[in-house]
Amino acid sequence: MFMATVSGIQGEKPLGIPSKFLGNEEPNAEHKPSELGSDITQAQERAELIILVHDVSPVYENELKELLGIISHYGFQNETYLFVIPNHGGKMPINDYPEFVAFLRNLSSEGYHVELHGYDHIGDEFNCGRGEAERRLYLGLKELEDAGFVPEYFIPPRYSLSEDALNVLLSHNLTVIGKDFIYLTNGTMKPIINREYTWYIPRFLVDYQLESAEESYKNTKGTFFLSIHPKAANNEAGLEFLRKFLEFVRKYKTGLGSLESPNGPVVEEHRYQEHSE
Ligand SMILES: [Zn+2]
Repeated sequence: MFMATVSGIQGEKPLGIPSKFLGNEEPNAEHKPSELGSDITQAQERAELIILVHDVSPVYENELKELLGIISHYGFQNETYLFVIPNHGGKMPINDYPEFVAFLRNLSSEGYHVELHGYDHIGDEFNCGRGEAERRLYLGLKELEDAGFVPEYFIPPRYSLSEDALNVLLSHNLTVIGKDFIYLTNGTMKPIINREYTWYIPRFLVDYQLESAEESYKNTKGTFFLSIHPKAANNEAGLEFLRKFLEFVRKYKTGLGSLESPNGPVVEEHRYQEHSE
């Protein structure tokens, strides 16, 4: 749970924060009819889909390749943020895995964003005091920077964060994404729609999950965050959900037709295998 009590939601939009990350409203939020024409404009807007891939680490390289193959197939590279665990379990610093770093560099060159997800992901590591947060952040940033990345966004492992740690992160110019809020570097916070549908779902729930995801996306204004965990999403049902939902968003946003061939799906999975040798 977030323990932070940052206030000032009405604050100005800070420089450097993509507008796509701002201006969310809860589904079914009350309209403000006093603003001339705003209802019409909003009714025609499509929510921006932002995909948050959690737990990006060498442990899940194969699972990530499978998931990102699907995301690339539907053209959402630029909308996908990869939250890297710099030293998973305290014994997997990413720079000890040059193939994995090369994999991340390739993804970055294709438009994917490389961001920070804690340091070792052990327990509620960022639900801690100021000094400990400073230390973990320093180590995490250094590991990423040594690999050639400078993150702008941070998701605390297990969404667990103390107010002290939040202030440390913000003071290092990191925008912090939580389960229900985004914390901007100017000290303001905003509610967000951040959903996960692919946590070890059984096959019979795919249609139900798809239906709720599509409804939620359609009712969201601003940004719709889709969270994905590798491994948890890598079963038949999770992959089917991902394909169908991305297909839906692509059609809904652009009015473009299906990417699927008339003879069935042609999802290019494992397209990054060539970089992993
Ligand atoms: Zn995590």
